[in-house]
Parts: sequence; structure tokens; C-alpha cells
Amino acid sequence: MNVLVVGGAGYIGSHCVHALAEGPHRPVVVDNLVYGHKAALPQGIPFYNNNLGNKNAISSILQKESIEAVMHFGAYAYVGESVEDPLKYYINNVAETLYLLEAMQASGVTKFIFSSSCATYGTPDQLPITEETPQKPINPYGQTKLDIEQALKALATQKQLSFVALRYFNAAGASLKHPIGEDHTPETHLIPLVCEVALGKRPHVSIFGTDYPTPDGTCLRDYVHVDDLATAHILALDHLNTPGTQLFINLSTGKPYSVREVIQTVESVSSKRVTTLEAPRRPGDPATLYADPTRAKQILNWQPKHSDLGSIIQSAWSWHAQHPNGFHS
Ligand code: UDP
Repeated sequence: MNVLVVGGAGYIGSHCVHALAEGPHRPVVVDNLVYGHKAALPQGIPFYNNNLGNKNAISSILQKESIEAVMHFGAYAYVGESVEDPLKYYINNVAETLYLLEAMQASGVTKFIFSSSCATYGTPDQLPITEETPQKPINPYGQTKLDIEQALKALATQKQLSFVALRYFNAAGASLKHPIGEDHTPETHLIPLVCEVALGKRPHVSIFGTDYPTPDGTCLRDYVHVDDLATAHILALDHLNTPGTQLFINLSTGKPYSVREVIQTVESVSSKRVTTLEAPRRPGDPATLYADPTRAKQILNWQPKHSDLGSIIQSAWSWHAQHPNGFHS
């Protein structure tokens, strides 16, 4: 299948492009390179430097490349920034995505895979989270993901689209096969920050909150290897053949790890000491987030293979140690 990967030069998108390029599919990438890295793409992949909301450009790419399905990773994803600058998030993540959908409709492309997020659930009343858990986002980022889920539902109900919305938990790790990994500027995520401390690039990592009602007092999160996320997208392509299909699927392991466990695992994998600083809670961080992965197994036949904490951190550490300046190394 010819698949347009929007935001294909970003962290999760580029891992998916590599997975598609292994065949039998043919990826075509659109990315405006605001956060993405062209160096993250395999050689020889058609690449277009465009905004996803540029309807004319996207329509002509869809037609020229005979695209059958679109995967959409092209969102802004800094929760804190979404609180401070909500308009930026509503424009890129909602308005531009609606223009992308309009371009698809104009070109007769009806298959869509959407990068949704556990942020749509906010602070759940019950754990583990399932797809039926009420969605109550607590920041504009999560709200923009939910807004698009609802637009997709409305389109699919009219049989104008078939889609799979994949709600990622904590994407982590680096490719096990290709020289690509996480390279965000600024970096805010725990695992890359801890690796950078182990490498001597940062003096310490702050532990945001040590008084949570969890076994060691720090937050628990459900980390999923980015290669496992990519596999789920490939599997999801097989579920888009019936017009009107609407699937919402959590991508998680069901087994959460604490901030302290992450730090200890980086220390043991890297054989380096990581200096920590106990800091106040970060606003908006729930104590514990993890989700039941049953639906992903039942519908997609997806099972995470590399998402135990040791494998995630081993791959992240290899990437950071070999690319201390990310794609500019
Ligand atoms: N965290 C931390 N120090 C940091 C960054 C993150 O203690 O410098 C914690 C954060 O509070 C959360 C967990 O690590 O409990 C994972 O945070 P991350 O930003 O990686 O992902 P999120 O869960 O926010 O999507």
C-alpha cells in the first residue's frame, strides 16, 4: 500500500516509516521539519517539506503518489507549552488536521491512522485504563487529540472515512535496527533526560514529586517501545478496508514503572551514576497511569515485544551514547 506518513521525520513517525519501508508497503513522507529530522528517514523515500494543513500541496501529493492510506503523526506534543500557548496547539493539532482530512476527502483517500494519546484520559478515576474509561483531558494537548478523535468518529459514522486511533502511553526507546532515536529540542521526557545525565551532558535530573501514593513515592508510567508502536501501525493498516470502521485502541503494556526505577535502570545499563534532585510535583502529572492492552491484542494481534524496561532503556542508552548530539552527532 502507498502510505502517506505525515510527520514522518519525527520520533514515532520515523520509526514507522522505517517499518513501512521494510515492505510490502511504500511510505511517502510529509514533514515541515519544525521538530522532525530529515536524517531520521531511510534513503530514497519520497519526501515533501510541507505543512500538513496546506490543502493544495497535500491533495497534489495524495494524487501524484497514488496514496491509499494516511498515518498522521504531525502534532505538537509539549503538554506544558500547550497550556501556555493553546492557540498554537489548536491551530496545528486541530485546524491543520481538519485541512488534512479535507484534502484526503477531496482526493478520495479514506483510510486514516491517527496518533492519539493517553492524555485524552486526563486523571482517570479507575485503573487500569481501558478504551471505555471516560476521556477527560486536563490540558489543551490532550483536548486537541480528543477533538480529532471526535471529528474522525463523525466522519466514519457517515462512512466518509475508516480509521484507527491509537492512544499511545509513554513512547520510549530507540530503533533496534536503524540509527534513529529520540531527539527533541527542548527535551522534556524522562528517559532521554536521564541518559543525558549519565552521559555527562546535564548535571542532574529532577524527580518531579517524591510524595505520590505509589510504592516509592514517584509517578508510575506505562512505557512502550517505539518499535512496538510502529508495529501496531502496520497491523492497523489491515483494519481499514470496511468503510465506516472506527477503532480506538490503547497501546500500552499494562505494567507501569516508577521514575526511580527508570533512573536505576539507566544507572545499571550505562554503569554510570545519575545525580538526582528531588523537586516538587509537576503540575498536571497524575500519580499513576497504565492501561489494559487487551483490545490491541484482540483486534490487532499486537503484543509489545521490546517494552520491558530493560530493553527500552538499553536501546535508548545505545542511541544516546552513540549520538550524544542526536541527529547532529
Ligand atoms: N519526570 C521527572 N523528571 C523529569 C521529567 C519527567 O520526574 O525531568 C517524570 C514525570 O513527572 C512523569 C514521568 O517522569 O511522572 C514521565 O514523564 P515524561 O515527561 O517522560 O512523560 P509524560 O508521562 O509526561 O508523558
